[in-house]
Amino acid sequence: METIGARSKIVCTIGPASKTKEILIQMIDAGMDVARINLSHESHSSAKQVFDRIRSIDDTIGILFDLQGPKIRIGELKEPVELESGQEFIISIEDIVGDAHRVSISHENLPQDVNIGDTIAINDGNVILQVKEVRDQEVITEVTQGGPISSRKGVNIPGIRLSCGIPTEKDIEDLYLAASLEPDFIALSFVVDEHDVIRVKEIIEKNGPSNAHIISKIEHMLAVKNYNAILRESEGVMIARGDLGIEVPIEEVPILQRDLIRQANMWARPAIVATHMLESMTHGSVPTRAEVSDVAHAVFDRADAVMLSGETAMGQNPVKAVEMMNRMVRKAEERLPQVDALDITSPEKMIVEIIGNLVYSAVCLITDKVDGIITATRSGFTARWLSKFRPPTNIFAVTKDRRVMRQVRLLWGVTPVSYDTDLENVDDLIREAVRVVYEAGLIESDKDVVFTSGTKMTPGRTNLVGIFHVADLIPKHPRKKLRRKGG
Ligand code: PEP
Repeated sequence: METIGARSKIVCTIGPASKTKEILIQMIDAGMDVARINLSHESHSSAKQVFDRIRSIDDTIGILFDLQGPKIRIGELKEPVELESGQEFIISIEDIVGDAHRVSISHENLPQDVNIGDTIAINDGNVILQVKEVRDQEVITEVTQGGPISSRKGVNIPGIRLSCGIPTEKDIEDLYLAASLEPDFIALSFVVDEHDVIRVKEIIEKNGPSNAHIISKIEHMLAVKNYNAILRESEGVMIARGDLGIEVPIEEVPILQRDLIRQANMWARPAIVATHMLESMTHGSVPTRAEVSDVAHAVFDRADAVMLSGETAMGQNPVKAVEMMNRMVRKAEERLPQVDALDITSPEKMIVEIIGNLVYSAVCLITDKVDGIITATRSGFTARWLSKFRPPTNIFAVTKDRRVMRQVRLLWGVTPVSYDTDLENVDDLIREAVRVVYEAGLIESDKDVVFTSGTKMTPGRTNLVGIFHVADLIPKHPRKKLRRKGG
């Protein structure tokens, strides 16, 4: 049995290196499933332009808007400076041009939000300060780890809940843009607890984008602590290792990655592993061996998707980075560790999960005969609970909704297939779903498929499983050549 292309999904950040129609087409051909538009760096007009361009090229590619959240930065410096360990350094909320002794900050509540003894990290954790004294307008610190800083470098204050919260004013403006464009996913930066997610969902419910899936970025120490509640309110998570590696001791990141994905997997929430995956390909054409190993381990950890950031946003060869990622995940998938399905079954044991488990067991027993799992889905919900078991065959999510087609592209092993007939009768539904998958060239007539869906009698509930021989259901007429993506 052969699978279609990579089963782990690839999220690519779009930036100056990848905005043209030509490059976007090549990135899609190379295996991009979801395009990430980072609103920390894009103006509304350029975000709209890229959004429209992607939709016009292929309206089944998922689009993710990544909101900046409460990201703090230092202000302008006269020139880059090197801070020495042991020196005093002042962070001021006044608008000053900084030097080697003091700098301004974008967060005006800093003196209220920190306490003596707190840690402040600047420049991706390269410089560490410890708070010694808090005054009205400034925070006096001692440099405990010296290093270089320059204008507008990022600031992290590990473990501290900032008073500006989520969504920030900028996030709200960005959500208005999202309401007008309707991206498929909205990623929330620096989520601290489930209430952050709920607040954004309330805004989305009022204004749109309708049915957008929320991806909570796990990059704050408190998000790790409140992970289960965040997960249950979100439709997916991103292990945002860049900031996470500053917020927690860096050596904990691989362990957290594994634990966070496992929990997401249990609750059938797609997990994206992000940052520095092929960092060296931003400037070079071959990844380091450590990067190759990192990508493989994200797959072994059962991530749904891996993400490219600077590699595709501003790298010298974004298409090559996607091609390389595709090759690497496909290889790693050959050795995806098997886990006991019962071990990853959630305590809720919902019917859809029991169905997912049954389908997985059936496919494992007759792998050689089966050419795919087909689910007719309105929202992608069933596909999500099938995907979590990582069955050894393709999952075809047959749906009428273009939005759902784009959203299931983030799910491991799921291929969306479009169909447009409204059918009441279950037999007709099965026949039609198998027909569209067959006619798309995705399954062979001499194979079996496992079909699962809900029935009209129990709307919104997946409760049906059947094993069918394709040739028994399809009319005898020619169809497209069998389609196998990405090599
Ligand atoms: C990260 O910190 O790893 C991340 C993905 O977030 P951003 O790129 O928005 O900083």
